[in-house]
Amino acid sequence: MSSAVTLNRVSCVFQSGGKAFRAVDQVDLEVRAGEFFTLLGPSGSGKTTCLRMIGGFTLPTEGTILIQGEDVTHQPPYARPVNTVFQDYALFPHMSILDNVAYSQMVRGVERAVREKRARELLDLVRLPDVAQRRPAQLSGGQRQRVALARALISQPRVLLLDEPLGALDLKLREQMQSELKSLQRELAISFIFVTHDQHEALSMSDRIGVFNKGRIEQIATPADLYARPATRFVAEFVGAANVLSGEGARTLTGHDSAMIRPELIRLGTESGARTGGTVAETQYFGAFWRLHVAVAAGARLLADVPAATGVPAVGQNTFLHWDDGAVHALGAA
Ligand code: ADP
Ligand code: MG
Repeated sequence: MSSAVTLNRVSCVFQSGGKAFRAVDQVDLEVRAGEFFTLLGPSGSGKTTCLRMIGGFTLPTEGTILIQGEDVTHQPPYARPVNTVFQDYALFPHMSILDNVAYSQMVRGVERAVREKRARELLDLVRLPDVAQRRPAQLSGGQRQRVALARALISQPRVLLLDEPLGALDLKLREQMQSELKSLQRELAISFIFVTHDQHEALSMSDRIGVFNKGRIEQIATPADLYARPATRFVAEFVGAANVLSGEGARTLTGHDSAMIRPELIRLGTESGARTGGTVAETQYFGAFWRLHVAVAAGARLLADVPAATGVPAVGQNTFLHWDDGAVHALGAA
């Protein structure tokens, strides 16, 4: 598969208060044509800065950026075959929805009838055929989100950059838009580079995910690989719930210096054959499962997710924990 966007050793250093701050630190990245690629990481880890450098809004301090094989490092945003959906949508409040969507075409001098026809086609595509004459304030958050999408797509970008586009929506709508966005991306067959701090969103939408931590990418992998085989402790704990063990406890329970066991791979059982025993310190109900916090030897706590249909021991009771050898994933030193 060919490369849509390539970052070679890209860094971004901001100067503030006389001090240099490395917001993005030597990032190497290759997004393939037609790929849904997500930049995932906590707030402040450099995701937006990275996206802005791809879009041309922020200049890298070092490194090069290629789009479809062409070096665009010093090209302005409008010269790049990419477009951006910003977090706050940035719609023009005084313009109709149709004019908002057609805006970039107007700026380029495309004649009215042609640009309005295209804008209507895009409003159909994002399933908003009936709002063309309204103003942004007359739409719901989810509708505004789709207008921003239509507006970004009208220039037929090869790569669409999306910075936390679903962040302002409530949970139900967000989940609906997640699957809609994914279908749209598949239909258009262009690359999406999607920024989020939400691991569920990243896992459910992406072909591959790059996990950011303090300006660096700690791991690039498919959602399934990232979840099952995190490269570092940070990735293990950021993506999904994890029991990360280190030191003596890790060696006793797993035979490794540092290891991870996902809570859903731990079962309750009898004393015979148990890996360890402990006291239930807390229980949390999640609908589909119960999460038990079990205090085991030496102050360690293990999370065990057990199906809600099975009974769970009460807080204060003793229980025994079981897992298969394959449930243990050894972690590197990093
Ligand atoms: P994220 O999108 O992952 O939350 P950002 O890329 O927005 O992170 O920011 C990364 C770091 O860079 C943060 O510590 C932020 O405060 C800092 N930063 C971002 N933009 C600027 C700027 N224009 N000047 C100085 N520091 C900035
Ligand atoms: Mg951001």
